Amino acid sequence: MQVSQELLDKFKVLMKKRGREYKSDDEERGEAQSLVNYVEFVYEFAKKEMRRETKLKDYPKGYPIDEDGTYGCLLCHGAITRINGWYDKYGFKCLDCQRAFDKKLIPVKVLKDRESWFADWQIHDEHGVHPSTARKLRRERLLHARDLKTKEGDVYYTIYLHSDNQEFLKKYPRKEKKKIEFIYSGGKQIQL
Ligand SMILES: [Zn+2]
Repeated sequence: MQVSQELLDKFKVLMKKRGREYKSDDEERGEAQSLVNYVEFVYEFAKKEMRRETKLKDYPKGYPIDEDGTYGCLLCHGAITRINGWYDKYGFKCLDCQRAFDKKLIPVKVLKDRESWFADWQIHDEHGVHPSTARKLRRERLLHARDLKTKEGDVYYTIYLHSDNQEFLKKYPRKEKKKIEFIYSGGKQIQL
């Protein structure tokens, strides 16, 4: 939406009250236009959210994605569209993850709380366990996995519930996340 003269006049009054000075009319118009663009974006976003909320009242278990665009599955992060995606009160999911949820292969806490489970990459990055060791621990039943499978039966993602893996977590606790701290010395930034 282009900034109208009426809106620009109101913007001028408002900005003057706030003590904001502009070097030129062009600069002022540019800033007013940015604000309008931003408001338009927020408005469109809120409209979409409201439509989803309203539709969920008719479909409390969710419904296939009915909007254009690409979304990320909240569980496996796979790219989803209206062809292979589902939306419910927890967010966007791929149909495979939705099926795992419907079949109760994954409990609802997994969708509500990202801290209630960990993924393959976290075993390595956060618990310091090499993938081959992880496979061994799985065979030894120290690590309990829940494999998510496609309709064809192929494993496409694996999750590990904290509640299933108390023993593993005791033996391989999550490493403290490295904090990167800086100090400033003589105008230079030094990493500690
Ligand atoms: Zn998924």
